[in-house]
Amino acid sequence: MRIAPFRFDVTPPAGHPLCGGWIQPAVDVDDALEAIGFVLLGAGKPIVVCAVDWTGILNDAHVAWREAIAVAAETTPDRVAVQCVHQHDAPFVCLHAEKLVAEQQAGLRVVEMEFFRTCLGRARDAVKAALPNARALTHVAHGEGKVIEVAGNRRMARDANGKVLKMRGSACKDAELIAMPEGLIDPMLKTVAFYDGAEKIVACHYYATHPMSHYGQGHVSSDFVGLARKRRQKEEPDCTHIYFTGCAGNVAAGKYNDGSPEARVRLTQRIYDGIVASGKMLTPSRIENVSWRTHDILPPTNPVFIAEKLRAMLADPKNVAANRIRPAMTLGWMQRLENRTPIVLSALHVDGVSLLHLPAECFVEYQLRAQKIAAGRFLATAAYGDGGPWYIPVKEEYPHGGYEVSVANCSDETDGILMRGIRELLG
Ligand SMILES: [Zn+2]
Repeated sequence: MRIAPFRFDVTPPAGHPLCGGWIQPAVDVDDALEAIGFVLLGAGKPIVVCAVDWTGILNDAHVAWREAIAVAAETTPDRVAVQCVHQHDAPFVCLHAEKLVAEQQAGLRVVEMEFFRTCLGRARDAVKAALPNARALTHVAHGEGKVIEVAGNRRMARDANGKVLKMRGSACKDAELIAMPEGLIDPMLKTVAFYDGAEKIVACHYYATHPMSHYGQGHVSSDFVGLARKRRQKEEPDCTHIYFTGCAGNVAAGKYNDGSPEARVRLTQRIYDGIVASGKMLTPSRIENVSWRTHDILPPTNPVFIAEKLRAMLADPKNVAANRIRPAMTLGWMQRLENRTPIVLSALHVDGVSLLHLPAECFVEYQLRAQKIAAGRFLATAAYGDGGPWYIPVKEEYPHGGYEVSVANCSDETDGILMRGIRELLG
């Protein structure tokens, strides 16, 4: 087997919408956004896994990314996993929403199509250029390190019936919310590394938290998780370091982050420390077996969303940008359902190590459940693949409301549908 790492730039130009056009567009670049991945050759048709420093890639846009990479790698799109890291001073792309918003002629933008196509071209070029330089893939290793004082559950403030009263977001200044415990998180940063003999070629890192320290002023950044990755990359230039965001739909840094520039530095250090700690545990073992599994899902729309009402919200000039663009994205999901375009879940199994690729903003419960299902194996979970569903709460959280539930494009049946898929991939 062989492995071919690749990377390319996906930094938007000045003026490009950020976070799908809800916040200040790009003014300048604090640090570049990258797409980083690897092609695995020799286990059937090529397999590609890629992480992108964008907020999200939804529906048709996600299909377009996987198709572009598949063509370049000479494989099929079902063997390509594209996962976002979910920074917010970054592009958030739904092509259907862009079309609907453009039709309004209200000056709203989700994504600039020329930039989007440029990124697909760079993806093709980077993958094609990587293939002739593929290295032998002989060994795999895994490790984990506890991350201290970064993640906390966002849904801690509840009434006696469990209803969520207020959210502990990415940055928080509410003393009552800060004082509450971390709540349900997955504290472990996991690493899976691939080797050519004794030489580490690719290291994939996984941690479940929203990755924002501060955002909204137009300063494009890969934020604290990207900065930690870049620091490690500089120290180990011969190994390609990739960072994936796990199931972080209900997890963020608010308990430990006041949104200041200093907090970004502190959070960067803590993720970096987790990467280093995890790296210390890596003990390569010879690879015997590699397989790729997929499972298609197409969960139904959340019944609270009525197309006619969404179109009215989109058309209402009194609404702020977010309240016009978000309905357009929900309409994008509905269109996708009509087109019967499935979401592809996937898992890469390398002996006793599994990489699981899930869509959108899954709650952390999903990766904890997946770890139980995969008991006896080392499981690393990347979420934020196809972003069409937006938040994916667990079924029991729907009645408890809160922001995440209010913007979940799919119904509570998604829980069962997703879990069947996860069992299929890991069983
Ligand atoms: Zn989010």
